[in-house]
Amino acid sequence: MTTHHVDVVIVGAGPTGLTAAGDLARAGRSVTVLERRPTINPSSRAFATMARTLEVLDARGLADDLLARSHRASGVTIFGGARIDLTHLDSPYQFVMITPQTNVDRALAEYAVAQGADLRRGVEVVGLAADADGVTVTARCHDGTGADENYWRAKYLIGADGAHSTVRALVGADFPGRTMLSSIVLADVRLARGPSGQGLTVSSTRNEFAFLAPYGGRDAAGAWYRAMVWDRNNQLPDSAPAGYQEIAGILARSMGADPGLLQVGWKSRFHCDERQVAQYRHGRVFLAGDAAHVHSPMGGQGMNTGIGDAVNLAWKIDAVLGGADDAVLDSYHDERHPIARRVLLQSGLMARGITLRPRIARGVRNLLAPRLLRIPKVRDAIAGSFAGTTLRYPHHSGEAAVVGTRASRIPLRHGQLTALQRNAGFVFTREHGAPTVAAGRLPQAERADTGPALLVRPDGYIAWAGDSADRGAWAATLARWTGQSGAERLSCGTR
Ligand SMILES: Cc1cc2nc3c(=O)[nH]c(=O)nc-3n(C[C@H](O)[C@H](O)[C@H](O)COP(=O)(O)OP(=O)(O)OC[C@H]3O[C@@H](n4cnc5c(N)ncnc54)[C@H](O)[C@@H]3O)c2cc1C
Repeated sequence: MTTHHVDVVIVGAGPTGLTAAGDLARAGRSVTVLERRPTINPSSRAFATMARTLEVLDARGLADDLLARSHRASGVTIFGGARIDLTHLDSPYQFVMITPQTNVDRALAEYAVAQGADLRRGVEVVGLAADADGVTVTARCHDGTGADENYWRAKYLIGADGAHSTVRALVGADFPGRTMLSSIVLADVRLARGPSGQGLTVSSTRNEFAFLAPYGGRDAAGAWYRAMVWDRNNQLPDSAPAGYQEIAGILARSMGADPGLLQVGWKSRFHCDERQVAQYRHGRVFLAGDAAHVHSPMGGQGMNTGIGDAVNLAWKIDAVLGGADDAVLDSYHDERHPIARRVLLQSGLMARGITLRPRIARGVRNLLAPRLLRIPKVRDAIAGSFAGTTLRYPHHSGEAAVVGTRASRIPLRHGQLTALQRNAGFVFTREHGAPTVAAGRLPQAERADTGPALLVRPDGYIAWAGDSADRGAWAATLARWTGQSGAERLSCGTR
């Protein structure tokens, strides 16, 4: 029996766990990821990486490589020709990146390991016991030499172990909600006559839908797409294999014309639930990603929301390990729970809109949706929400209205904010023309526009806005989040 001692144990090496691991290790924390699978999950589920997540990946130096190997879709056509147009997004990424989740998982695993996280595959967590000082984890190691029990002792534990989370069960948290759609077939398909545009398309009848995301690249015979197809009248258990005829039939009926299915690659059948835990924090144990919330994959939000959870939580754990008040950790639930609740609502609305049955309701939907989405304000609100760029955290009374919004679009005189954020930690941006402030090791930069000075959190959201000469004000905010006020703080976590 061995007991390993680390700052943080993370259960699950999906996108959520790997992002948190990389960020904590980057901040100088000892972190171990325990993953029961021996390799990256080959069942590539997510295909859509949103603009906000690309900004987050860029702040970790990961976006360019992924983009070089991906397709870019400029919008999503949903129903009645209505299109969520992403080309006006307030982001350098005015598109959705289409790439199999395995690519994102691989990039994040490389990031976590490069930053120094200890990633252990083939290790299944089976027990945990939390006390006032930490958490003890029991895990079985399936390394081919027989199941060997091991123990980890950590100050904090993140349960990022997916929809069927063991950690969630071990802390006794319910996962209230319901099954929303069943017998959805997910497949990689090669079509002779698939949609020719750059965007994602959803076609539907009263009884079927077909969602297609182009992987990019087309030859004389056809092109590859990620397809999600569903037939109200052919409801089978997840274990039932999906066949060529079934996929070809649903595609042709939903699209109103046979797209010429040439080949089916990887495929699986699944159901989707809408569920969310009531509490993300259970003492020293945190739930994140699919362990905390699941919903329809229709809006392409699950992985993106999980990565958002991870970047919100990791720096707060680092801050508290470095001396910040424990209440900082409560803000993880306070900030992220409402975001996922909204994602559940939106992706549920989209799924219900697509699977709407009554003819009159479908007619009204097809009439209104395209008109609404042509109104710039509505278009930008829906596109921004879909892309994650308009998501924000609440600000408190007395704080500037921009507090809680993301800072990635703030233009700097030299370089980019996301590049500065690659060092981890808070960043200070002075007003254009303002002198350097005495801020210890806090990295600072000068704005290129006319906005106020900003204190930017490690996850890229604005913590404070005001006059850079008002040191008392920004130092107090820094102290509230980190326990330290400036001179002693803080370019690379709290090492
Ligand atoms: C069909 C489909 C399409 C989707 N499309 C999109 C999309 O386009 N965009 C998007 O953002 N999201 C999409 N999603 C959702 C996305 O796949 C998930 O939200 C995402 O994988 C969640 O990441 P996670 O890290 O929280 O959990 P997971 O990816 O599920 O990872 C959890 C990990 O924990 C491990 N684990 C579980 N139990 C234990 C244990 N006891 N001990 C050790 N390890 C354990 C598992 O093996 C797994 O590797 C889609 C989902 C589906 C089903």
